[in-house]
Amino acid sequence: MATRKTQGSREGDFSRTIEGELVFDAGPCTGVADDGEWDCECSIAFRGVATGELTTTAVVADLPMRLKEYQEAVCDGLALKGVCSDCALECARAAWKLAMRWPTGTVIERHQTRFAPRQRQQS
Ligand SMILES: [Zn+2]
Repeated sequence: MATRKTQGSREGDFSRTIEGELVFDAGPCTGVADDGEWDCECSIAFRGVATGELTTTAVVADLPMRLKEYQEAVCDGLALKGVCSDCALECARAAWKLAMRWPTGTVIERHQTRFAPRQRQQS
């Protein structure tokens, strides 16, 4: 889900999602898909399920939620309005599996198609 934790520790950080909003990996936008160049915000961001806005930081959360409920949220959100439900379900499944790779509380960032945990900050 979206977090503002560690925001600003990487150059170009931004977060226009709602804190705690579910996010997913939206992949490249159509601009990137067209010319193959990751020169826009989608190369470092996750997309918020409900708002469709972007954030560069997401945290792995242990939510009282099953994959099916998460998929329903993704289908119902603004982010994938106009996307067929099969694609939305597949997106949700992929994001769910991605989050399973790290322990709860891990802040994840993306660089194009790679995802990595962000170094935990001492505060
Ligand atoms: Zn883009």
